[in-house]
Amino acid sequence: MTAADFQSQHHEQYQTFKQLGLKLDMSRGKPAPEQLDLSNALMASLDSYKAADGTDCRNYGGTIGLPEARALFGQLLDVPAAQVVVDSSASLSLMHDVIIYSLLNGTPGNAPWVREPVTFLCPVPGYDRHFAICEARGIKMINIPMTDSGLDMDLVEKLVAEDASIKGMWCVPKYSNPGGVVYSDEVVARLAAMKTAAPDFRLMWDDAYRFHHLGEQKLAVANILEACAQAGNPDRAIVFASSSKVSWAGSGVAALAASPANIAWWTKHAGIRSIGPDKINQLRHVRFLKDLPTVEALMEQHRLLLKPKFDAVLAQFERYLADVPGVSWTRPLGGYFIDLVTPPGSAKRTVALAKEAGITLTPAGAAFPYGNDPKDSHIRIAPSFPSLDEITQAAQGIALSLRVALAS
Ligand code: PMP
Repeated sequence: MTAADFQSQHHEQYQTFKQLGLKLDMSRGKPAPEQLDLSNALMASLDSYKAADGTDCRNYGGTIGLPEARALFGQLLDVPAAQVVVDSSASLSLMHDVIIYSLLNGTPGNAPWVREPVTFLCPVPGYDRHFAICEARGIKMINIPMTDSGLDMDLVEKLVAEDASIKGMWCVPKYSNPGGVVYSDEVVARLAAMKTAAPDFRLMWDDAYRFHHLGEQKLAVANILEACAQAGNPDRAIVFASSSKVSWAGSGVAALAASPANIAWWTKHAGIRSIGPDKINQLRHVRFLKDLPTVEALMEQHRLLLKPKFDAVLAQFERYLADVPGVSWTRPLGGYFIDLVTPPGSAKRTVALAKEAGITLTPAGAAFPYGNDPKDSHIRIAPSFPSLDEITQAAQGIALSLRVALAS
């Protein structure tokens, strides 16, 4: 067959695909219903509303979380419980609040950020909601290219050393969204030790995928709070995590871990915002999630549901895209996403063609600050929510859309 024959064959396949009348929303990395079912015992996990210290969880109080919830997250995050706050039903709100308190009140011993221009470093491709927080609050963003071991650290070190307006950086250290990147020990050590012109520089350490392995190998990332303390920068990192993709997304519990000074700072400001978190939800999560081995066993159940869906996408891409120059994709060892990398200038068109064929993807460009992928070449694939059959079809549809985009 000639190249032209191949092209018209793919056009026909795309047209046939369109006629299937598919309606699939893959715009976000949501757990599938059968994953949520794994935690249904949460509904019945409370036989009492009393916490271990006798606290009546039905009432106000306990700004920093129940002692047993802090102990659980301390164990999960490998941090002393005294350095953990458990609050809110999702970690994004904690990240948002850390930025708001820093902007309006300043970090411990420092002036409010809002008095001067503020800049954040943003590893790309990255998580759109991190960038949305910055954009909404007037924080300027600078792209930092990601590498296989984490980040272009030479660039990071240079920028933070010379520009005092750089007050922070977003980091998803394990199985990043969407690239699946895992930070090496060297990257963690350099981030902890680097010289920053801003004394109140913060690493927003979003450990969203700490337990979300896809392979049998469970990768570990070095402990950032320990690394920062050892490097003489104990207040630099604030770690965020939640049970959103462990138990229920949006109805889980979230945690923040940091130095004692940052915990005291958080407690002061969070005490103004609320008279206490949802301790009933915390208590039922403690009863259900229990400890690290229980969480790891639950995550293995998630893995068994997710792995075939990722494999199905990879197989379809291999089948339809392996021979297309300039096209590649990640083969993540964990997390919720595959990053499909297209030849420059073709991601938006592919997403539009997929939409016409009934597949809603995250908008092209979303993985970049201001929604602007300078090369228009990244498409975030979220295989978790559709069924195995649907995701297989969708991956085929996305691959055909890309082929048609490249031919037109
Ligand atoms: N961080 C990252 C990197 C994510 O991908 C997500 C979910 N897509 C979140 C945070 C959201 O976490 P939560 O539900 O705890 O707000």
